Amino acid sequence: MKIELVNNDFRFDISNAVLLFYPRINTVDDSDQKSIKVCVKDNFASAELIDGNNNYYSEVQFDRSLYDYLRCACVRAVYDVCFQATGVRPPWGLLIGVRPVNFYLKMYGLYGENCTDILQNSYLVSPDKIKLCRETVNMRSQSVNRLTEDSFSLYVSVPFCPSRCKYCSFVSFSTEKEKKYIDPYVRVLCDEIKTTAESLHGRSPLTIYIGGGTPTCIPDDLFEKILICITESFNLSDCFEFTVEAGRPETISVKKLEIMKKYGVTRICVNPQSLSEQVLLAAGRNHSAIEFFDAYRLAEQYGFDINVDLIAGLPFETTVSFSTGIKKIIDLNPEDITIHTLYIKRAADYGSDKSLYAKTDSESVAQMLSSAYKDLESHGYFPYYLYRQKNTVGNNENIGFAKKGTECAYNIYMMDEIQTIYGCGANAMTKIVSNGQITRSCGTKYAYNYILKNGEKNK
Ligand code: SF4
Repeated sequence: MKIELVNNDFRFDISNAVLLFYPRINTVDDSDQKSIKVCVKDNFASAELIDGNNNYYSEVQFDRSLYDYLRCACVRAVYDVCFQATGVRPPWGLLIGVRPVNFYLKMYGLYGENCTDILQNSYLVSPDKIKLCRETVNMRSQSVNRLTEDSFSLYVSVPFCPSRCKYCSFVSFSTEKEKKYIDPYVRVLCDEIKTTAESLHGRSPLTIYIGGGTPTCIPDDLFEKILICITESFNLSDCFEFTVEAGRPETISVKKLEIMKKYGVTRICVNPQSLSEQVLLAAGRNHSAIEFFDAYRLAEQYGFDINVDLIAGLPFETTVSFSTGIKKIIDLNPEDITIHTLYIKRAADYGSDKSLYAKTDSESVAQMLSSAYKDLESHGYFPYYLYRQKNTVGNNENIGFAKKGTECAYNIYMMDEIQTIYGCGANAMTKIVSNGQITRSCGTKYAYNYILKNGEKNK
């Protein structure tokens, strides 16, 4: 789609707004039949959408009482013409950002209780999504109150998995194919953990998260080496939460659980993503629903808090199979249940297989989510962190639910970007949060480059 801007420079916002209505369109390439022109003149923003022989037009008068009114008017004009052309009403309205809760808080700061009306009427956010934001703000307050000005968390990346899931776009290597990198990777990673701890002069992280990847898929001795390194390098006196992503159930063994217990891990993630065998098989998960339940019950015996992730919208999932899955997960009573909406990136295997993607329609996903949210709420689970990604089916979101007091604090600090997080390992992001500003720096993307680069440095 060709995008033409006159007297404004909101290309990023306008491209993202267009993608809400046309998720598979290329907003850089202008070889298709569609074009949009967004123009600012006098007190108005206008948008004209041409789609083949059809022409749609909208004009929006500035409301100068609104936060960022110029951008808002341009996006609103784009929303109007795209709505005329498609009939789609994106549930998050004009909000295109990743962190709607942060936007909600900004609006609350500016307009107090009136922010609900403004979000609904001027930003066209649905009442359900506003309620989600409000509940999330309430639920996360306990974890937010633990933060002090110079507190921080630690993220350690172990980018290996037993095999690659078809929807995955993370930088993660299959242990089968890339076994040779694990040992040198752990060596270089431990060096970086030690250097990071030294640079922090004995300060203690509030939370630690070892993710990736599936850290529990590497051999026991190397896995233990990472935990020994963290516990010996860092002062852990303030650390109240220590999480390990044991995402793939088939990687959870008695030995791994004993190691985690020994070194003070408090929480682990055991993720089925779906409880339908057909969905698991198609997604290349290499484990069954029964294996998930076995791993979960084993982990439970060690007293860990447990996070469970599900994805709404995977190919072959139905509203019935998803709802049955949610009920079974609720029966297990985990501390956290996070519901992701499927999103497809080109790096994922599903990204290149449009026939699989087409199996999931936005209406079914919306139904899966709304029925899951109701079930969770009626069992005492409320949203506590919330974020959005581009290209999710039906423009929906990812939400972590917990019962009061069982939230995973790291998820809030990391997703809402309200605490400094030091990242160690390949593709690990360090975010320094200071005076409302965030400085980001990312580690070398791929494990082999990381080993080369940092191994050389440490010689
Ligand atoms: S377990 Fe997670 S990181 Fe690993 S391949 Fe699957 S989605 Fe990707």
